Amino acid sequence: MTTVRAYAAASATSPLEPTTIDRREVGPRDVLIDIAYAGICHSDIHTIRGEWGEVAYPLTVGHEIVGTVAEVGSDVTRHAVGDRVGVGCMVNSCRECENCLAGEEQYCLEGNVGTYANVDRDGSITQGGYSQKVVVDEDFVLRVPEAIPYEKAAPLLCAGITTYSPLHHWNAGPGKKVAVVGLGGLGHMAVKIAHAMGAEVTVLSQSLRKKDDGLAMGADHYYATSDPETFRALKNGFDLIVNTVSAPLDLKQYLGLLSLDGTMVNVGAPPEPLPIQVFTLFSNRRSFAGSSIGGIRETQEMLDFCAEHGIAPEVELIDAAQINEAYERVLASDVRYRFVIDAATI
Ligand SMILES: [Zn+2]
Ligand SMILES: [Zn+2]
Repeated sequence: MTTVRAYAAASATSPLEPTTIDRREVGPRDVLIDIAYAGICHSDIHTIRGEWGEVAYPLTVGHEIVGTVAEVGSDVTRHAVGDRVGVGCMVNSCRECENCLAGEEQYCLEGNVGTYANVDRDGSITQGGYSQKVVVDEDFVLRVPEAIPYEKAAPLLCAGITTYSPLHHWNAGPGKKVAVVGLGGLGHMAVKIAHAMGAEVTVLSQSLRKKDDGLAMGADHYYATSDPETFRALKNGFDLIVNTVSAPLDLKQYLGLLSLDGTMVNVGAPPEPLPIQVFTLFSNRRSFAGSSIGGIRETQEMLDFCAEHGIAPEVELIDAAQINEAYERVLASDVRYRFVIDAATI
């Protein structure tokens, strides 16, 4: 075991505080990463506060991790000391089920192993990226191209892939009209990626407060959902709607915006069930879908795509001592557009 500095919470109601955690010895297939930056995802907050179910404490969260390879195990072939790498939302899976074999490890039939608060296949509880170092199996370590600014790369590992995967799967591209609901951490990446894929992009946000930002990120149109006229004006207008909002929405209104064979895909997850009026799906043969992060192969493809197209998240870099304050600001939607912790301050 190696002891490293980290930020952890002692209970669901405790703030995150500096402490130390243990990382396993570097095994033959492992990569030891000196963490440089860790993004703050809304999921971190839900998980560490026990809002998505019971978790073991003390807990360190963080699943948007970039850093430099410090050591590799004897059998590692994909990564070398000094490489710039990333780790996202999962660090293991069964690798044998049909979904794993298809490169969709996020949908592992035995459940993928999340980067934190999950039981790893060796029985240990995973601890996340708000720490100095992490040890990860090489198959779950991504290459982070040099073209992506180091301090901005971390949010791609969750927010980036979570939006890239559905855009890719449902063929966002030239001639396609894509709406992005919500312009937060996920939404702003969805706008940038959909625009780079060549789609016509519309932001549907509660207000027009962030309109200038959205247009600068590549949106072609920007509408306020607080204005009922928006839903009349855009009726039957989109091939794909990516919903990044985790608050409950009136689905009937949004599904009504889909054109023939259009799909609305949720990447935000409201805790309560959403009622759906099936008749709304009959019109235009509409689909309502969900999507969860992306596989390792697709995550690498996303990183390479972002490097090629000069796409990076908008970030606010913070010191570790500001994590608790940053959480409150995330909950108040007061972040443009992702907090990233400078791991040197942990
Ligand atoms: Zn996340
Ligand atoms: Zn599997």
